[in-house]
Amino acid sequence: MSLLRIFTYHNIGTPPPGASAKQLYVSIENFDRQCWLLRRLGIRGVGIGEGMAALGRRLSGKLVVLSFDDGYLDNLVHAAPILRQYGFRATCYVVSGSIGSHNDWDAQAIGVAKPVMDERAIGQWLELGNEIGSHTVSHPRLDQIDTDLARFEITESRRQLERVTGAPVTHFCYPFGGYDERCVALLREAGYATAVTTRRGPASAASDPLQLPRISINRKRGLLKYGLHAATAYAWLRRA
Ligand SMILES: [Zn+2]
Repeated sequence: MSLLRIFTYHNIGTPPPGASAKQLYVSIENFDRQCWLLRRLGIRGVGIGEGMAALGRRLSGKLVVLSFDDGYLDNLVHAAPILRQYGFRATCYVVSGSIGSHNDWDAQAIGVAKPVMDERAIGQWLELGNEIGSHTVSHPRLDQIDTDLARFEITESRRQLERVTGAPVTHFCYPFGGYDERCVALLREAGYATAVTTRRGPASAASDPLQLPRISINRKRGLLKYGLHAATAYAWLRRA
């Protein structure tokens, strides 16, 4: 069966002192090693658009989708130069109401305000061949708000991001992984082509493109296990 592994990252860098949710950070050095390993395994890092097109043609075996949630500035500053060095690309899911600001949705809870890319930074990210997708306007749990508000978060973020990029935005990421059947229907209605979740495992040709599972790459992920996730059906077998 043809599989597509979609890796989830948040921050690339070192967590500031006092920050909780340190697991969301992968150090620059580890990210470099992970990309190095992918290349050694003959695997190329790509954005979700290219990954899904390859899955449809059963050509996704030597690809891994590199996805970054929330649109942090460190994705451009720390990850993009490494991606470029290895000839890889990635997708960043941007919260359209927080462009140029910070993680308003969880800064208080985790004790750190992390800078988010502004319009210029998003432009640089795209110029390097990377891609962006929508992560709503304000990062709510979509399955816990009413339908009209969910529809607004889904359609308005797309509109705002298309204004910034001047190009169609057709990929989506559910904040906090929260979604239900109603959200899937709203995404379909809004014309999104793909949506990623926090369900674990590789995607397959049988996956609903609006409910794609991913594999979380957090701070503690060792290089050996990373390689197993990238090169085999390990995540699916282990449900890890
Ligand atoms: Zn998020």
